[in-house]
Amino acid sequence: EQDLDQGLSKTRRTWSDRWNQFMSNFRSVDEDFFDDLEETLISADVGAQTAVTLTDELRDEVKLKNAKSQDEVSKVIIQKLIDLYERQGVDEDTSMHLNANGLTVILFVGVNGVGKTTTIGKMSARYKQEGKQVVLAAADTFRAGATEQLVEWGKRNDIPVVTGAANSDPASVVYDGVKQAQAQEADILFVDTAGRLQNNVNLMQELAKMKRIIQREIPEAPQEVLLVLDATTGQNALQQARLFKDSTDVTGIVLTKLDGTAKGGIILPIRNELHLPVKWIGVGEKVTDLQPFDADAFVKGLFG
Ligand code: GDP
Repeated sequence: EQDLDQGLSKTRRTWSDRWNQFMSNFRSVDEDFFDDLEETLISADVGAQTAVTLTDELRDEVKLKNAKSQDEVSKVIIQKLIDLYERQGVDEDTSMHLNANGLTVILFVGVNGVGKTTTIGKMSARYKQEGKQVVLAAADTFRAGATEQLVEWGKRNDIPVVTGAANSDPASVVYDGVKQAQAQEADILFVDTAGRLQNNVNLMQELAKMKRIIQREIPEAPQEVLLVLDATTGQNALQQARLFKDSTDVTGIVLTKLDGTAKGGIILPIRNELHLPVKWIGVGEKVTDLQPFDADAFVKGLFG
């Protein structure tokens, strides 16, 4: 809880500055107010489409609740943001799908630099601490340093890492990873993948091949395909999410670098337009800087 507070402090400070400024201009609930509200939401990276829909709904809600004072209006808006997020969640499942018995495979996808390797380092340490046997597969054989970085995380947390030679076929590293995890009777295999955006067709073919290799050994795997997005890239992250969603079966989002941005609002369009559950948030570079996502705590944190 404290880590989350600290990690979110920058998002929160800048957002709440903006929010407080907006609310300090509050005079009455009129059209100007809703115009300003829409602008404020857009500036927090909620996205134009979501901001318009949201503002329309808030206009109705404020009328319905007969909210008049600054305090009443503020409460209605915060509750609405939480409801909006959770209501979208008819199909939402923020929990991780882990096999109770047998190996679970978690595939991490996303473009270079978003924080895949770092997230695997943090998440594997977390599950290991919970008593799970974990193995890492460094299938990003293309980015210079990616394998070394994962090996470093493995060393630090005493977790085995399966590697391949630079530029070798990622699918063969995945195969070796599955074999080692099975031999060790491990609970979870974490697979790091390459994210070369300049070549989408190859990237998607590569991901499909990895899945085939995994499914030949374990038909129901991978149980999770987590798309890692960098919150500081705002609307770009949304664009990447659309692309990956169209090409692979993404089961959830890890939103990283929320400690470095005032743009946490990107969570809403991810939910609203893509219907993908955010499962984890990254709030720093340390092993403890990864948190399961909780919409209620997140929204209240932003206004706290
Ligand atoms: P990859 O190319 O997707 O594997 O990205 P990396 O895991 O190498 O991360 C790229 C950079 O982002 C590294 O310097 C990480 O330390 C940093 N990073 C990753 N997650 C976070 C986060 O939640 N907060 C901050 N501040 N930095 C992060």
